[in-house]
Amino acid sequence: YVKLEQITKSYGAHTVLRDVNLSVHSGGVLAIIGPSGSGKSTLLRCINYIEPPNKGIVTVGDVTIEGETPVSRRDLRALRSKLGMVFQSFNLFPHLTVLRNITLAQERVLGRTSAEAELIAMQLLTRVGLADKAAQYPSRCSGGQQQRIAIARALALDPKVMLFDEPTSALDPELGLEVLSVMRELATSGMTMIVVTHEMSFAENVSDHVAIMADGCILEYGPSREVIRNPQSARARQFLRAVN
Ligand code: ATP
Ligand code: MG
Repeated sequence: YVKLEQITKSYGAHTVLRDVNLSVHSGGVLAIIGPSGSGKSTLLRCINYIEPPNKGIVTVGDVTIEGETPVSRRDLRALRSKLGMVFQSFNLFPHLTVLRNITLAQERVLGRTSAEAELIAMQLLTRVGLADKAAQYPSRCSGGQQQRIAIARALALDPKVMLFDEPTSALDPELGLEVLSVMRELATSGMTMIVVTHEMSFAENVSDHVAIMADGCILEYGPSREVIRNPQSARARQFLRAVN
């Protein structure tokens, strides 16, 4: 469902992604792991064209966008409408209630009525275990709760693919577990997911494939257990020793 072909991205003379090829089938869950600075976040930002790649082809469902060639707003909108994104920092609107955080874009982007949007928001809050927080402000919620609200907000726009950039790394381990269990449920429900993570148990047990990045390249890619238990390259073995 997602296909990245020969994605290359440079900042000035600094090449951050070199010829990255990856694909995720519909319902697939890909974990991307790798050392700091290897290009994981940049790769996610290339998928939704927040950072246009210098070269390469991004395909998400029936939308294909190539390299830097001027991209029409229509293609960008079509691409982004298929993608939900969750960041390390939750980025909720602090001046809006939890419910309004989840209804706002539904009304503005999808044109849903406020009644429709609230119904969907309450269903999603229930799904992430936070229906009782609807009227609260985000500052009254724990980090783990805020991140689950951010996931509900992304899901409210009916994405076909969810992109996660280290969703638990700003959280205490215990709060991280709440978020990981929501992500596990999402994976089980058939959502297509690309997850940049340091959580090796998620990579091994929830994702079906793992890609290890280093220096802007995919060092290893394959079924999760194989990649994690039996890495082929010395660089990958070194990284996995360091995180385990
Ligand atoms: P981390 O695990 O620390 O989040 P990462 O794998 O996500 O690391 P990126 O954030 O993708 O790594 O960064 C890859 C490289 O690109 C780094 O060397 C970084 O300094 C560089 N980089 C990222 N964004 C920019 C930018 N906007 N301008 C210049 N260089 C950038
Ligand atoms: Mg990053």
